Amino acid sequence: MAKRRSKNDIVDGFTTMKAAQRAVTSGKSPKTTTQKAGEASSKPKPEPARSPKTRIDHTTQPTRHNVECYECRYGFVITGLLKDTFCPKCKSALVATEYSLDKRWAGNIKTIGTVHITEKGVVGGGKIVAGNVILAGSIEGGKTQVIGRLEARAGGRFKPEVVDARDLIVRDDASLSFETEIRFRNIDVAGKLSASIVASGIVMIRSTGHLLGKVCGKHLVVENGAGLNATLDVA
Ligand SMILES: [Zn+2]
Repeated sequence: MAKRRSKNDIVDGFTTMKAAQRAVTSGKSPKTTTQKAGEASSKPKPEPARSPKTRIDHTTQPTRHNVECYECRYGFVITGLLKDTFCPKCKSALVATEYSLDKRWAGNIKTIGTVHITEKGVVGGGKIVAGNVILAGSIEGGKTQVIGRLEARAGGRFKPEVVDARDLIVRDDASLSFETEIRFRNIDVAGKLSASIVASGIVMIRSTGHLLGKVCGKHLVVENGAGLNATLDVA
């Protein structure tokens, strides 16, 4: 691969990002420092060891799950444990079972929960509709529809033509490569991704991430230290 040529692209991408970040932070930083100094000097009582209010705020924060009905696509929120429920709109019974596929597999699954495809798991056929998919194995056939996130881990791979997911997460130990264009809403890259990508939401390249190929989208965020060897079409 043409590493030499693309190095220039990295530098260009970074200079722009850094310049943008500097512009944002320089406008904010003086305000916060003066505020802190003023607050500290005007506090007479050395009492704030017990602060029950903050404690309560922390412990009662329930987990929120953004759920989408797999029958009518209505989106709603479940707080606490993700469990079987009914769609508030179409009243369909929604199953929240978690699945773990650890061998060659073909069948039908419908869940608002998570489907784990382990290292030895291979989806060869059938139909999966899942809230989220965690992928350490492979998806080769059938049809997999992910309402939320498709999260690729080490060893995870899939054929884009049989997968339809809203968001793609490439974890830091994952390495994905595609010949054909891939489309998602948000793409979060902490590992390696080699592809021509189209994103309607945000493309995020983490400090550990490396993206090679082409980016076509609306928003691109590149963290400090990230690698980007790509043709950019971000508008
Ligand atoms: Zn529904």
